[in-house]
Amino acid sequence: MNIKTATFKISNTDYKLCPDDNKPEFAFIGRSNVGKSSLINMLTQHKSLAKTSGTPGKTQLINHFEINNEWYLVDLPGYGYAKVSKKARIVFEDFIAAYLINRNPLLNTFVLLDSRLPPQKIDMEFMSWCGEKQIPFAMIFTKIDKLSSSELQKNLAAYKKEMLKYWESLPPIFTTSSDSKFGREKVLNYIDEILKTV
Ligand code: GDP
Repeated sequence: MNIKTATFKISNTDYKLCPDDNKPEFAFIGRSNVGKSSLINMLTQHKSLAKTSGTPGKTQLINHFEINNEWYLVDLPGYGYAKVSKKARIVFEDFIAAYLINRNPLLNTFVLLDSRLPPQKIDMEFMSWCGEKQIPFAMIFTKIDKLSSSELQKNLAAYKKEMLKYWESLPPIFTTSSDSKFGREKVLNYIDEILKTV
């Protein structure tokens, strides 16, 4: 897919106030610092469409970016952990859950994972939650330029093994680097394939 135009459309916390023109949406989510803003900027070939972690006053909103006047790339706030009676539990704002569950034009959510880390409980929990709610997702491993290909293969294998403890099959998996632009074509082609089905 060729990205001809990428423009910021609207930010809010209520899925009902998101654009109502019914264009298909693809959401991106992950823990803070996973490389989400860098990936969005890399995919859209924009220096600062999405605000990176270093941006002061970065707000926690659902951000819609219109791509090629055809679809929306949706930048979602990250999830985190809260301590609830000694146990850590995954939390994310109710408005994010409401968006993911109720947003009709949402075709796929990309769950971003740091390729340098072993399977993280919080990410596994988030993907389980998506499964329970029947929210289709694909996995994107970020920052692959930061490790050797053997380390990457080892971490991917560990993730796949962990996923297969809970899932019968694996979702689509992409490996990316915002620095080298590795993976750009594959992610955009995947979006294109889904767009062709609507
Ligand atoms: P966000 O909080 O998920 O939006 O993460 P950012 O996009 O702000 O990235 C967090 C940090 O990781 C920044 O210092 C980025 O420069 C760095 N980073 C993000 N993606 C990559 C990548 O693909 N390769 C490398 N080497 N660094 C990255």
